[in-house]
Amino acid sequence: MVYLGCHLSSAGGYAAMCKTAAEIGADTFQFFTRNPRGGKAKAFDPADAAVLSGAIAAGTLGPVVAHAPYTINPCSADPRVREFAWETMADDLAKLDQIPGVYYNFHPGSHVGQGVETGIDRIVEALNGVLTAGGRTPVLLETMAGKGSEVGGRFEELRTILDRADRPDRLGVCLDTCHIHDGGYDLVHDLDGVLAEFDRVIGLSRLKAVHLNDSKNPLGAKKDRHAVIGGGYLGLPALAAVVRHPALQGLPMVLETPNELPGYAAEIALLRKEAAR
Ligand code: FE
Ligand code: FE
Ligand code: ZN
Repeated sequence: MVYLGCHLSSAGGYAAMCKTAAEIGADTFQFFTRNPRGGKAKAFDPADAAVLSGAIAAGTLGPVVAHAPYTINPCSADPRVREFAWETMADDLAKLDQIPGVYYNFHPGSHVGQGVETGIDRIVEALNGVLTAGGRTPVLLETMAGKGSEVGGRFEELRTILDRADRPDRLGVCLDTCHIHDGGYDLVHDLDGVLAEFDRVIGLSRLKAVHLNDSKNPLGAKKDRHAVIGGGYLGLPALAAVVRHPALQGLPMVLETPNELPGYAAEIALLRKEAAR
């Protein structure tokens, strides 16, 4: 089996997200640690967080994914932008360390003209800075579409980050189906081959979560526009094959499709049915 859920609004807090997850048939979910466009995080509420860690410990929920705001850029050329990314990540991790069972997922960043090598060095520098000895939250690098100067569009780039980081034991990867399709990995015709390539380059043991999204653009478009399940170039059969794939069992799989809650509930039910076939 896989855990299935979707991205939820964190506006009402952790207990509210757990309740919503139950209502829509989800046994995992994802949330932004703060406003995705950056800015201040809410104060940490230990009693509220205990509802989430309790649900994970009880097995009601599988691992849950906390997503860093997508505007932070740990590989910017501007030291102030990098500093903001470090501060945000360190602050997020200090909170998440108090919620066992939650992964912290982030976009490696965009090198904006510095070149991928420099970008990778800066990402490694950020990870080495924020992954302190006392911390414990697993940190996931998200596979990217390779839009613009995004780092992480090739499995090799993520592998290099893992190789150079001081604390690889704290690191994993989150595979986004829309992103890798847009990055040129053909899940539709060769899912086995793509996963074999992931295993060869990164290692499947590093894969901790999946973002299940269809794509509005054809293979290799490097666009990153998510479509509803079955409404894009990946299509339902390819995404059903992902939830059924033996190498991916046990993972949390999170929808980031353009939906409101009823649409998410329907997609979760559909994918559960496909997973059981
Ligand atoms: Fe993401
Ligand atoms: Fe994603
Ligand atoms: Zn995306």
